[in-house]
Amino acid sequence: MLIAGNWKMNTDLPGGRALAEDIAEGIAAAGDRFAEIDFAVCPPFVHLQAVGEALADSPVALGAQDVHAEDEGAFTSDVSAPMLTSVGCSHVIVGHSERRQYYDETDAQVNDKARQARRHGLVPIVCVGETLEQRRTGNAESVVRAQLEGALDGVPVASADDLVVAYEPVWAIGTGESATPTQAQDLHAVVRADLSERYGDAIAADVPLLYGGSMKPHNAADLLSQPDVDGGLIGSASLEADSFLGIAERAVEVQSAK
Ligand code: PEP
Repeated sequence: MLIAGNWKMNTDLPGGRALAEDIAEGIAAAGDRFAEIDFAVCPPFVHLQAVGEALADSPVALGAQDVHAEDEGAFTSDVSAPMLTSVGCSHVIVGHSERRQYYDETDAQVNDKARQARRHGLVPIVCVGETLEQRRTGNAESVVRAQLEGALDGVPVASADDLVVAYEPVWAIGTGESATPTQAQDLHAVVRADLSERYGDAIAADVPLLYGGSMKPHNAADLLSQPDVDGGLIGSASLEADSFLGIAERAVEVQSAK
């Protein structure tokens, strides 16, 4: 299981560092309890270095929330893959619905970013998910399939360690209304089938498929117990160590039963 936090545009530098320290301390205090759980946090760009230092002795991977498709150049305000690797990032979120919604990011741009991430050894966390209107009109599956086709076309994946996919229904993000476990499983199965066609069954079986959208400690067990849900991409509940690690606790319980 992979439990990943997306801090979005939250925390100032001292607060981000303190949150990272609290997470690292909580994991250390748990001893071997979290030994089978993979962790990642994706803080704002300006906190990456400090958070990376705070997590240096912990098993928590460092991720960014976005990346530019070029190595360098006149792209004011953007951040490149070499910059991310130079501060210790191993993961990067691409195609988050907030980027698609507020910055009109297209599948083609998400694809450029995912390819760029792979060129630099970063693991892209590729986000897909339908809007409420798309779900209501019965198009959730076709939307997710089209997003995968657009985002993953030509992205080299030689092993399951090269990719993470997050299914994040837009209507569940930040709303407090998560998908039901059945809704999540149904779409995760669609993602898994797509990855099987694209990369073969063996790789597809082990690519972590994260559910994202109002996952909290109280609903995490039901979501994580679904056969094709391999973890969570967590927004607001990742902003406090207790709730982030509370979800990890549910993951431990569920994992032993899977
Ligand atoms: C997200 O934006 O990736 C997310 C899942 O947010 P939240 O958990 O707050 O719904």
